[in-house]
Amino acid sequence: EELRGEVSGNKGSRQVPGYHYSRVTPTPVRDPQLLAWSEELGDYLGLAEPVARGAATAILAGNILLPSMKPFAARYGGHQFGNWAGQLGDGRAISLGQVVATDGTRQEIQLKGAGPTPYSRRADGRAVLRSSVREFLCSEAMHHLGVPTTRALSLVETGDQVVRDMFYDGNARPEPGAIVARVAPTFVRFGSFQILAAQGEIDNLRALADYVIHHHYPELGAPSPEVYVRWFAEIARRTAVMVAHWMTMGFVHGVLNTDNMSILGLTIDYGPYGWLEPYDPDWTPNTTDFGGRRYAFGQQPRIGMWNLMALAQALGPLVADPQALRAGLDIYAETFADTEHALWLRKLGLTAHDPASDRALTEALPAVLAEAGVDMTVFFRQLSHLPPALLAADAQQENLFNELLAQAAYSTAPGADLALREWLHRYALRLQQESAQPEAVRESMLGANPKYVLRNYLAQLAIEAAETGDLTKLDTLFEVLKTPFAEHPAHEELAAKRPEWAQDKPGSATL
Ligand code: AMP
Ligand code: MG
Ligand code: MG
Repeated sequence: EELRGEVSGNKGSRQVPGYHYSRVTPTPVRDPQLLAWSEELGDYLGLAEPVARGAATAILAGNILLPSMKPFAARYGGHQFGNWAGQLGDGRAISLGQVVATDGTRQEIQLKGAGPTPYSRRADGRAVLRSSVREFLCSEAMHHLGVPTTRALSLVETGDQVVRDMFYDGNARPEPGAIVARVAPTFVRFGSFQILAAQGEIDNLRALADYVIHHHYPELGAPSPEVYVRWFAEIARRTAVMVAHWMTMGFVHGVLNTDNMSILGLTIDYGPYGWLEPYDPDWTPNTTDFGGRRYAFGQQPRIGMWNLMALAQALGPLVADPQALRAGLDIYAETFADTEHALWLRKLGLTAHDPASDRALTEALPAVLAEAGVDMTVFFRQLSHLPPALLAADAQQENLFNELLAQAAYSTAPGADLALREWLHRYALRLQQESAQPEAVRESMLGANPKYVLRNYLAQLAIEAAETGDLTKLDTLFEVLKTPFAEHPAHEELAAKRPEWAQDKPGSATL
């Protein structure tokens, strides 16, 4: 209510100057059926699991609105591939409103795939089961990995068919439709501010900034030009923390555009994301990113900065001296470097003690991992088990490293792992300076290095089964990803590096 909403609703795609959002109504679907439910998030929100075809499922499909719901689609813009794309907006996501969670915070519930809005442009406002399974599983997996992220509450199959070919496989064919209910304190993005600045709507720009500060950054106090500067620095800090997590987990967002950057520093918009298999800074799951210019794994810290610069430009009209926003960009760079270093140290079981040489150790890591092309998840998980053996008096280090690399390596190219082996010897030496018991180091590493991540081909196998009505793979994957640092002896296969036969499985699904 504090922001300006357009009330004219569902009457076709259009520009919506002057407003923050449009009131819209979800378009009903034929036969909604609940396929997956995040019990942990439901408990947090105080919501019970719906019956598969019951009334609550109909709400999560947009078929029933409660009297208190005033659904809306948000207006925003953004830079895509580095170019200003103008108005984008929620083209297929519709927010139902907010619920008060069990901890007293307000959480927004948004249905993705709920039908057309003024922002749908040429597309239909729907989502396919394939992309919805991916968003559902990955949002929850990221949360349980400790990465700042939007959440997913439910996955509902709609009973309607959706025709999609796009960049997926070039074959237009009907696919089952689905809707994910996603949850975050707010879905406001960098692009929400950009569209207002670009259109010269400075009063609206200030209103949105004040709204976000009041509700989501209350610790900053009453908005003022100085507070906007400190707020931007805090957004930059949170963004850096998020990207540092991605870089130490092997997550590639895949569409790091300003419309997909949360103002809260949460990972948002799980589209063509992917997980590294062989560690490779040039790898991107985005098949439209020819040459990996922007969307590759190793580009993410730089693009995070670029996107913050675009936000700074949009916020310029609110501050007395736009140059003051530069401090936030420095905070981004510093926070990213410090957080990434701290996360590496945690993964290595090292408690900081020799800052300069420890920096050199962690900074050398990406290059040697890339040269060896190892599976990052397997590498660090197996490394976690080594400290007791590595620190034993009669340690046969070379044998331990042989075994580790045999498990984690994809390539057997001679010499590819030389630099990594040398790095491992340095690491083993450094380990000797730890005062903690080797068993304790092992335990802390097992708590920092997940055994399970959402491997691209595993998501794809779960999707293919779900499309034939078999949910067992989806259920198992979801179960394991809820405790990714635990052992699941019955599901060792889900922790192994990608098998040879899975190499051609699509790693991503754009729409
Ligand atoms: P994304 O690449 O997911 O960030 O989406 C970019 C823009 O395209 C956003 O404005 C989306 O709302 C819009 N969009 C994506 N898919 C659809 C769809 N199926 N129907 C309508 N709009 C869409
Ligand atoms: Mg998006
Ligand atoms: Mg998307």
